[in-house]
Amino acid sequence: MALPYPLRSLYYDGKPQSSTSDHTFQSIDPSTSLPLAEIHTSSHSDVDAAITSAARAFPSWSATPAIQRSRILLKAAAILRERNNTLAEIETKDTGKAFSETSTVDVVTGADVLEYFANLVGGGGLNGETAQLRPDAWVYTKKEALGVCVGIGAWNYPIQIALWKSAPCLAAGNTMVYKASEFTPLHSTLLAEVYSEAGLPPGVFNVVQGEGEVGAYLTSHPGVAKVSFTGQVSTGQKVAASAAGCMKYVTMELGGKSALIVLPDADVEQAVDGAMMANYYSSGQVCTNGTRVFVPEGMKTAFEEALLRKMQYVRSGDLMDLRTNFGPLVSKPHYEKVLSYIKHGMEIDKAKLIYGGPEKPKWLQGAKEELKNGFWVQPTVFTDCRDDMRIVKEEIFGPVMSILTYKTVEEVIERANNTTLGLAAGVFTKDLNMAHKVIAQLQAGITWVNTWGESPAEMSVGGWKMSGVGVENGRRGIEAWVRNKSTLIDMGGEVATVFSKL
Ligand code: NDP
Repeated sequence: MALPYPLRSLYYDGKPQSSTSDHTFQSIDPSTSLPLAEIHTSSHSDVDAAITSAARAFPSWSATPAIQRSRILLKAAAILRERNNTLAEIETKDTGKAFSETSTVDVVTGADVLEYFANLVGGGGLNGETAQLRPDAWVYTKKEALGVCVGIGAWNYPIQIALWKSAPCLAAGNTMVYKASEFTPLHSTLLAEVYSEAGLPPGVFNVVQGEGEVGAYLTSHPGVAKVSFTGQVSTGQKVAASAAGCMKYVTMELGGKSALIVLPDADVEQAVDGAMMANYYSSGQVCTNGTRVFVPEGMKTAFEEALLRKMQYVRSGDLMDLRTNFGPLVSKPHYEKVLSYIKHGMEIDKAKLIYGGPEKPKWLQGAKEELKNGFWVQPTVFTDCRDDMRIVKEEIFGPVMSILTYKTVEEVIERANNTTLGLAAGVFTKDLNMAHKVIAQLQAGITWVNTWGESPAEMSVGGWKMSGVGVENGRRGIEAWVRNKSTLIDMGGEVATVFSKL
């Protein structure tokens, strides 16, 4: 039977290429579990060819004036916006995320980042500094591109992650070989086509396909200068260890178990809205999820009542229907993992289930037959949780909220920080002084006040502790893609005479 999407293979030297491997894998539609496309895994020689293509393109691309690089990337951003709905629909098929999300966030925020970095470098954002030492001596610095860089993406925001990595990488004058997650590969060659159409020279952006083994080959490859990785902490540790072999630069965007703190004076309705965004957006498959929801003891009843009243607005169904805002989980293994956590929460942790649970959602009974095999779960809420429960300690990466109560602000800060992870955190309060005091004490790289989840191009984001190394986006985001060269000029000749006098 013909699959809905044509074979998406390798892309290098500015065009699609045939793989030398016979091994294939399928991309699956998570809403039905039906196959979407059959893709060839890249062999080692395919990966070598993509890296060679990137290496060939590097001298000329890195020497291209920044304003010219900027012009090409701005054109690519414009093409992405023109194709927003087509690309968003493919992301919806590949990831299972509702079109109401992918059409308003995934491609759009990726294009924003491309525009941001194109404008930054086009406006002189990569210029170095000078320091006058003496009248006849000074230091100048230059920021130079690194070389061939590797981007490895997770499956939750495929095209956005590909753009968050490739935009600053290419803007800074590097070339890239990109590997998407095997669960969501469809966007990668489409993005490569957009770049080529915009005028990006052959070899500057290249795509390989496959699972972890292909990623591992990329990260250990001696021809690669940097690895930018998004994924789980355990994979990140392997990637960083492998990259250390050749002392490659690394950026690590890893997992989290973030604390959302509702302070005693907070607006309950606003805090509930924030907690729902922090747990059910993208069906909970967001690295910055605020899954540990800390509520003051005295607010628990009001918070839970408001939450249960609003849960009806989490709507599953046809993913292309703009009223749908909650899709299935991305894959069968992930579906099974999330269900096992929900069961663990009920049976072993003995947390109190007040919404959802491990059963198939009821709406599926009246749904189209093909949706019945999808990886659909119920948005789930546990309360009376304790810090030592597994569902509270480990990243579930699904729509599972844990409500915990606290007595004092000092206590909640200490408990919020009591984790090896440090990706995101946030507070809900009307007291701005208190907001800043609490935020200052939270151990996380991304923090919010009275909101959750927005991550604009201007905001540098990256995890603390085991949640990562380095940042993406914002002015600091470009620094991860350049190396510094400092030059001291001395016109006085003082140093040269030190050994020529008594
Ligand atoms: P994984 O760590 O399983 O995979 C991430 C990528 O790494 C995939 O492309 C995967 O390929 C590849 N990979 C697997 N093994 C290796 C290896 N040994 N060497 C190199 N690459 C390898 O993460 P998920 O895809 O499951 O994504 C979910 C995770 O990502 C969550 O923990 C989430 O918190 C985190 N994340 C973090 C973000 C952040 O910005 N901090 C943003 C988004 C997600 P394949 O899947 O094909 O096997």
